[in-house]
Amino acid sequence: MADVVSLLAEHGDDAKPLAGGQSLVPLLAMRLTRFEHIVDLNRVDELFGVTADNGSVRIAAMTRQAAVETDATVAQRAPLLHLATPHIGHFQIRNRGTIGGSVAHADPASEYPAVMLALDGTAEIASASGTREVPAAEFFESTFMTAVAPDELLVALRFSAWDQPAGFAFDEIARRSGDFALAGAAVGISTDAAGRINRAAVGMLGVGPIPLRASSVEAALIGLAAADADPHEIGRLAADDMDPIGDVHASADYRRRAGSTLVGRILASALAQLTQEAGNG
Ligand SMILES: Cc1cc2nc3c(=O)[nH]c(=O)nc-3n(C[C@H](O)[C@H](O)[C@H](O)COP(=O)(O)OP(=O)(O)OC[C@H]3O[C@@H](n4cnc5c(N)ncnc54)[C@H](O)[C@@H]3O)c2cc1C
Repeated sequence: MADVVSLLAEHGDDAKPLAGGQSLVPLLAMRLTRFEHIVDLNRVDELFGVTADNGSVRIAAMTRQAAVETDATVAQRAPLLHLATPHIGHFQIRNRGTIGGSVAHADPASEYPAVMLALDGTAEIASASGTREVPAAEFFESTFMTAVAPDELLVALRFSAWDQPAGFAFDEIARRSGDFALAGAAVGISTDAAGRINRAAVGMLGVGPIPLRASSVEAALIGLAAADADPHEIGRLAADDMDPIGDVHASADYRRRAGSTLVGRILASALAQLTQEAGNG
Protein backbone atom coordinates (compact mmCIF):
# COMPACT_ATOMS: atom_id res chain seq x y z
CA MET A 1 0.00 0.00 0.00
CA ALA A 2 2.82 2.39 0.87
CA ASP A 3 4.41 1.70 -2.53
CA VAL A 4 1.11 2.25 -4.36
CA VAL A 5 0.32 5.62 -2.77
CA SER A 6 3.90 6.82 -3.19
CA LEU A 7 3.84 5.88 -6.92
CA LEU A 8 0.52 7.70 -7.33
CA ALA A 9 1.94 10.75 -5.52
CA GLU A 10 5.04 10.70 -7.72
CA HIS A 11 3.29 10.29 -11.09
CA GLY A 12 -0.14 11.95 -10.48
CA ASP A 13 -2.15 12.23 -13.72
CA ASP A 14 0.41 10.11 -15.61
CA ALA A 15 -0.36 6.99 -13.55
CA LYS A 16 -3.49 4.84 -13.36
CA PRO A 17 -4.24 1.96 -10.96
CA LEU A 18 -5.05 -1.39 -12.57
CA ALA A 19 -7.63 -3.49 -10.71
CA GLY A 20 -9.43 -6.27 -12.63
CA GLY A 21 -8.76 -4.55 -15.95
CA GLN A 22 -12.31 -5.24 -17.19
CA SER A 23 -12.88 -1.57 -18.03
CA LEU A 24 -9.36 -0.12 -18.10
CA VAL A 25 -7.82 -2.70 -20.46
CA PRO A 26 -10.53 -2.34 -23.16
CA LEU A 27 -10.12 1.47 -22.96
CA LEU A 28 -6.35 1.13 -23.41
CA ALA A 29 -6.73 -1.49 -26.16
CA MET A 30 -9.12 0.77 -28.09
CA ARG A 31 -6.66 3.68 -27.63
CA LEU A 32 -9.39 5.72 -25.91
CA THR A 33 -6.97 6.60 -23.12
CA ARG A 34 -3.26 6.35 -22.43
CA PHE A 35 -1.05 6.55 -19.33
CA GLU A 36 2.70 6.61 -18.89
CA HIS A 37 2.44 4.32 -15.85
CA ILE A 38 0.07 1.54 -14.80
CA VAL A 39 0.12 0.72 -11.07
CA ASP A 40 -0.92 -2.92 -10.72
CA LEU A 41 -2.92 -3.52 -7.50
CA ASN A 42 -3.25 -7.29 -7.98
CA ARG A 43 -0.54 -8.28 -5.50
CA VAL A 44 -1.40 -5.83 -2.70
CA ASP A 45 -2.77 -8.20 -0.06
CA GLU A 46 -4.33 -5.46 2.14
CA LEU A 47 -6.67 -4.57 -0.73
CA PHE A 48 -8.48 -7.94 -0.70
CA GLY A 49 -11.17 -9.38 1.57
CA VAL A 50 -14.42 -8.87 3.46
CA THR A 51 -14.50 -8.11 7.19
CA ALA A 52 -17.45 -7.69 9.54
CA ASP A 53 -17.20 -5.16 12.31
CA ASN A 54 -19.69 -3.41 14.63
CA GLY A 55 -22.78 -4.06 12.54
CA SER A 56 -21.12 -3.05 9.30
CA VAL A 57 -19.26 -4.83 6.53
CA ARG A 58 -15.99 -3.57 5.05
CA ILE A 59 -15.12 -4.77 1.56
CA ALA A 60 -11.57 -4.06 0.44
CA ALA A 61 -11.34 -2.51 -3.04
CA MET A 62 -9.68 -5.42 -4.86
CA THR A 63 -12.26 -7.97 -3.69
CA ARG A 64 -13.43 -9.68 -6.88
CA GLN A 65 -17.10 -9.28 -7.81
CA ALA A 66 -17.38 -13.10 -7.81
CA ALA A 67 -16.25 -13.13 -4.15
CA VAL A 68 -18.77 -10.40 -3.24
CA GLU A 69 -21.50 -12.51 -4.90
CA THR A 70 -20.88 -15.54 -2.67
CA ASP A 71 -19.74 -13.97 0.62
CA ALA A 72 -22.10 -14.80 3.53
CA THR A 73 -21.33 -11.60 5.50
CA VAL A 74 -22.12 -9.46 2.45
CA ALA A 75 -25.38 -11.37 1.88
CA GLN A 76 -26.39 -10.80 5.51
CA ARG A 77 -25.26 -7.19 6.07
CA ALA A 78 -25.54 -5.67 2.58
CA PRO A 79 -28.07 -7.92 0.78
CA LEU A 80 -28.43 -5.48 -2.13
CA LEU A 81 -24.81 -6.11 -3.18
CA HIS A 82 -25.51 -9.84 -3.17
CA LEU A 83 -28.66 -9.34 -5.26
CA ALA A 84 -27.05 -6.92 -7.73
CA THR A 85 -23.79 -8.75 -8.46
CA PRO A 86 -25.16 -11.47 -10.79
CA HIS A 87 -26.35 -8.67 -13.10
CA ILE A 88 -22.76 -7.47 -13.73
CA GLY A 89 -21.59 -8.69 -17.14
CA HIS A 90 -20.83 -12.41 -17.21
CA PHE A 91 -19.21 -14.75 -14.71
CA GLN A 92 -15.81 -14.42 -16.41
CA ILE A 93 -15.95 -10.64 -15.95
CA ARG A 94 -17.01 -10.90 -12.29
CA ASN A 95 -14.17 -13.36 -11.72
CA ARG A 96 -11.62 -10.63 -12.58
CA GLY A 97 -13.59 -7.42 -11.99
CA THR A 98 -13.41 -5.86 -8.52
CA ILE A 99 -15.89 -3.92 -6.41
CA GLY A 100 -13.43 -1.03 -6.07
CA GLY A 101 -12.75 -0.92 -9.81
CA SER A 102 -16.46 -0.76 -10.57
CA VAL A 103 -17.12 2.05 -8.09
CA ALA A 104 -13.96 4.01 -9.07
CA HIS A 105 -14.83 3.68 -12.77
CA ALA A 106 -18.29 5.16 -11.96
CA ASP A 107 -20.17 4.12 -15.07
CA PRO A 108 -23.71 5.51 -14.52
CA ALA A 109 -25.16 2.23 -15.88
CA SER A 110 -23.18 0.09 -13.38
CA GLU A 111 -24.84 -1.84 -10.59
CA TYR A 112 -22.49 -1.21 -7.64
CA PRO A 113 -22.52 2.62 -7.73
CA ALA A 114 -26.35 2.65 -7.51
CA VAL A 115 -26.29 0.12 -4.67
CA MET A 116 -23.60 2.09 -2.82
CA LEU A 117 -25.77 5.20 -3.10
CA ALA A 118 -28.94 3.41 -1.94
CA LEU A 119 -27.18 1.85 1.05
CA ASP A 120 -25.44 5.11 2.06
CA GLY A 121 -22.10 3.33 1.78
CA THR A 122 -18.81 5.02 2.64
CA ALA A 123 -15.61 5.05 0.58
CA GLU A 124 -12.25 4.80 2.35
CA ILE A 125 -9.66 6.68 0.27
CA ALA A 126 -5.90 6.79 0.84
CA SER A 127 -3.04 8.93 -0.41
CA ALA A 128 0.56 9.52 0.64
CA SER A 129 -0.74 12.11 3.11
CA GLY A 130 -3.27 9.87 4.92
CA THR A 131 -6.78 8.41 4.62
CA ARG A 132 -10.23 9.99 4.44
CA GLU A 133 -13.80 8.77 4.25
CA VAL A 134 -16.33 10.00 1.69
CA PRO A 135 -20.08 9.22 1.88
CA ALA A 136 -21.70 7.81 -1.27
CA ALA A 137 -23.81 10.97 -1.72
CA GLU A 138 -20.58 12.97 -2.28
CA PHE A 139 -18.60 10.29 -4.12
CA PHE A 140 -20.07 10.33 -7.66
CA GLU A 141 -19.32 13.77 -9.12
CA SER A 142 -20.12 13.37 -12.84
CA THR A 143 -20.04 10.63 -15.49
CA PHE A 144 -16.89 8.53 -14.85
CA MET A 145 -15.70 11.13 -12.29
CA THR A 146 -15.51 10.50 -8.55
CA ALA A 147 -14.10 12.09 -5.40
CA VAL A 148 -10.95 9.94 -5.80
CA ALA A 149 -8.14 12.30 -6.97
CA PRO A 150 -5.37 11.08 -9.35
CA ASP A 151 -2.91 10.73 -6.45
CA GLU A 152 -5.44 8.80 -4.33
CA LEU A 153 -6.50 5.17 -4.09
CA LEU A 154 -9.92 3.76 -3.23
CA VAL A 155 -9.05 1.33 -0.43
CA ALA A 156 -12.40 -0.09 0.73
CA LEU A 157 -16.15 0.39 0.93
CA ARG A 158 -18.14 0.17 4.14
CA PHE A 159 -21.85 -0.60 4.51
CA SER A 160 -23.90 -0.54 7.75
CA ALA A 161 -26.46 -3.29 8.28
CA TRP A 162 -30.08 -2.10 8.38
CA ASP A 163 -32.43 -2.50 11.35
CA GLN A 164 -34.90 -5.36 10.86
CA PRO A 165 -37.46 -6.03 9.57
CA ALA A 166 -36.22 -4.90 6.16
CA GLY A 167 -36.82 -5.91 2.55
CA PHE A 168 -34.42 -5.53 -0.38
CA ALA A 169 -34.76 -6.02 -4.12
CA PHE A 170 -32.73 -5.32 -7.26
CA ASP A 171 -33.56 -5.61 -10.94
CA GLU A 172 -32.69 -4.07 -14.27
CA ILE A 173 -33.65 -4.05 -17.93
CA ALA A 174 -30.92 -4.91 -20.44
CA ARG A 175 -31.15 -5.80 -24.11
CA ARG A 176 -29.37 -9.11 -23.55
CA SER A 177 -28.28 -10.96 -20.43
CA GLY A 178 -24.87 -9.59 -19.42
CA ASP A 179 -25.27 -6.26 -21.22
CA PHE A 180 -25.08 -2.97 -19.34
CA ALA A 181 -28.53 -1.96 -18.05
CA LEU A 182 -30.78 0.43 -19.95
CA ALA A 183 -32.39 1.15 -16.58
CA GLY A 184 -32.21 -0.50 -13.18
CA ALA A 185 -32.90 0.07 -9.50
CA ALA A 186 -31.94 -1.08 -6.02
CA VAL A 187 -34.51 -0.79 -3.24
CA GLY A 188 -34.31 -1.14 0.55
CA ILE A 189 -37.28 -0.60 2.90
CA SER A 190 -37.56 -1.10 6.67
CA THR A 191 -40.40 -0.62 9.15
CA ASP A 192 -40.82 0.24 12.83
CA ALA A 193 -42.58 -1.97 15.38
CA ALA A 194 -45.98 -0.61 14.24
CA GLY A 195 -45.32 -1.65 10.61
CA ARG A 196 -44.73 1.92 9.36
CA ILE A 197 -41.96 2.53 6.85
CA ASN A 198 -39.14 4.35 8.67
CA ARG A 199 -36.37 3.97 6.06
CA ALA A 200 -36.65 3.81 2.28
CA ALA A 201 -33.78 3.89 -0.20
CA VAL A 202 -34.06 3.72 -3.97
CA GLY A 203 -30.87 3.89 -6.06
CA MET A 204 -31.20 4.02 -9.87
CA LEU A 205 -28.76 3.20 -12.66
CA GLY A 206 -28.77 3.99 -16.37
CA VAL A 207 -31.21 6.90 -16.02
CA GLY A 208 -28.87 9.84 -15.46
CA PRO A 209 -25.28 11.07 -15.82
CA ILE A 210 -24.47 9.56 -12.40
CA PRO A 211 -26.30 7.01 -10.21
CA LEU A 212 -29.36 8.73 -8.71
CA ARG A 213 -31.63 8.38 -5.66
CA ALA A 214 -35.38 8.35 -6.36
CA SER A 215 -36.03 10.87 -3.58
CA SER A 216 -39.69 11.45 -4.56
CA VAL A 217 -40.35 7.73 -4.14
CA GLU A 218 -38.48 7.60 -0.84
CA ALA A 219 -40.40 10.61 0.53
CA ALA A 220 -43.75 9.07 -0.52
CA LEU A 221 -42.94 5.81 1.28
CA ILE A 222 -41.75 7.19 4.64
CA GLY A 223 -44.47 7.03 7.31
CA LEU A 224 -46.82 4.79 5.30
CA ALA A 225 -48.02 1.49 6.76
CA ALA A 226 -46.12 -1.03 4.62
CA ALA A 227 -49.32 -3.01 4.11
CA ASP A 228 -51.05 0.05 2.58
CA ALA A 229 -48.28 1.15 0.20
CA ASP A 230 -49.18 0.85 -3.51
CA PRO A 231 -45.76 0.12 -5.05
CA HIS A 232 -46.79 0.63 -8.67
CA GLU A 233 -48.45 3.99 -8.01
CA ILE A 234 -45.50 5.21 -5.91
CA GLY A 235 -42.95 3.79 -8.37
CA ARG A 236 -44.29 6.09 -11.09
CA LEU A 237 -42.95 9.08 -9.11
CA ALA A 238 -39.41 7.90 -9.96
CA ALA A 239 -39.83 9.37 -13.47
CA ASP A 240 -39.40 12.85 -11.92
CA ASP A 241 -36.11 11.86 -10.29
CA MET A 242 -34.48 10.65 -13.51
CA ASP A 243 -32.36 12.57 -15.99
CA PRO A 244 -31.90 10.02 -18.80
CA ILE A 245 -30.26 10.48 -22.16
CA GLY A 246 -31.27 8.83 -25.43
CA ASP A 247 -28.65 6.86 -27.31
CA VAL A 248 -28.34 4.02 -29.82
CA HIS A 249 -29.64 1.54 -27.19
CA ALA A 250 -32.82 3.33 -26.03
CA SER A 251 -34.51 6.73 -26.13
CA ALA A 252 -34.62 8.93 -23.03
CA ASP A 253 -38.41 8.49 -22.96
CA TYR A 254 -38.10 4.69 -23.00
CA ARG A 255 -35.57 4.79 -20.16
CA ARG A 256 -37.84 7.04 -18.08
CA ARG A 257 -40.97 4.95 -18.62
CA ALA A 258 -39.35 1.54 -18.34
CA GLY A 259 -37.30 2.71 -15.35
CA SER A 260 -40.28 3.97 -13.36
CA THR A 261 -42.31 0.82 -14.13
CA LEU A 262 -39.31 -1.20 -12.96
CA VAL A 263 -39.05 0.81 -9.71
CA GLY A 264 -42.71 -0.10 -9.01
CA ARG A 265 -42.01 -3.79 -9.56
CA ILE A 266 -38.91 -3.76 -7.38
CA LEU A 267 -40.77 -1.90 -4.63
CA ALA A 268 -43.43 -4.64 -4.75
CA SER A 269 -40.73 -7.33 -4.29
CA ALA A 270 -39.06 -5.47 -1.42
CA LEU A 271 -42.43 -4.93 0.30
CA ALA A 272 -43.29 -8.63 -0.11
CA GLN A 273 -39.96 -9.61 1.44
CA LEU A 274 -40.52 -7.12 4.27
CA THR A 275 -43.93 -8.60 5.05
CA GLN A 276 -42.36 -12.06 5.15
CA GLU A 277 -39.51 -10.84 7.43
CA ALA A 278 -41.97 -9.10 9.75
CA GLY A 279 -44.03 -12.31 9.89
CA ASN A 280 -40.92 -14.36 10.73
CA GLY A 281 -39.82 -11.85 13.38
C1 LIG B 1 -18.17 -7.46 -21.73
C2 LIG B 1 -18.23 -6.65 -20.46
C3 LIG B 1 -19.46 -6.48 -19.85
C4 LIG B 1 -19.54 -5.74 -18.66
N1 LIG B 1 -20.77 -5.57 -18.10
C5 LIG B 1 -20.87 -4.85 -16.97
C6 LIG B 1 -22.14 -4.64 -16.34
O1 LIG B 1 -23.18 -5.12 -16.79
N2 LIG B 1 -22.15 -3.88 -15.22
C7 LIG B 1 -21.01 -3.32 -14.68
O2 LIG B 1 -21.09 -2.64 -13.65
N3 LIG B 1 -19.81 -3.52 -15.24
C8 LIG B 1 -19.72 -4.26 -16.36
N4 LIG B 1 -18.49 -4.45 -16.92
C9 LIG B 1 -17.32 -3.80 -16.30
C10 LIG B 1 -16.81 -4.63 -15.13
O3 LIG B 1 -17.74 -4.70 -14.09
C11 LIG B 1 -15.52 -4.04 -14.55
O4 LIG B 1 -15.01 -5.03 -13.75
C12 LIG B 1 -15.62 -2.79 -13.70
O5 LIG B 1 -16.28 -1.74 -14.31
C13 LIG B 1 -14.22 -2.26 -13.40
O6 LIG B 1 -13.64 -3.06 -12.47
P1 LIG B 1 -12.18 -3.61 -12.64
O7 LIG B 1 -11.83 -4.16 -11.31
O8 LIG B 1 -12.06 -4.50 -13.81
O9 LIG B 1 -11.32 -2.23 -12.82
P2 LIG B 1 -10.29 -1.76 -13.91
O10 LIG B 1 -10.83 -1.98 -15.28
O11 LIG B 1 -8.95 -2.31 -13.60
O12 LIG B 1 -10.28 -0.20 -13.55
C14 LIG B 1 -11.38 0.63 -13.87
C15 LIG B 1 -11.05 2.08 -13.50
O13 LIG B 1 -11.05 2.24 -12.08
C16 LIG B 1 -9.76 2.66 -11.62
N5 LIG B 1 -9.51 1.94 -10.37
C17 LIG B 1 -9.60 0.60 -10.19
N6 LIG B 1 -9.39 0.29 -8.90
C18 LIG B 1 -9.11 1.46 -8.27
C19 LIG B 1 -8.84 1.78 -6.92
N7 LIG B 1 -8.78 0.86 -5.95
N8 LIG B 1 -8.65 3.08 -6.60
C20 LIG B 1 -8.73 4.04 -7.56
N9 LIG B 1 -9.01 3.81 -8.85
C21 LIG B 1 -9.20 2.51 -9.20
C22 LIG B 1 -8.80 2.31 -12.73
O14 LIG B 1 -7.66 3.13 -12.69
C23 LIG B 1 -9.67 2.53 -13.95
O15 LIG B 1 -9.74 3.90 -14.26
C24 LIG B 1 -18.36 -5.18 -18.09
C25 LIG B 1 -17.12 -5.39 -18.68
C26 LIG B 1 -17.04 -6.12 -19.86
C27 LIG B 1 -15.68 -6.33 -20.47
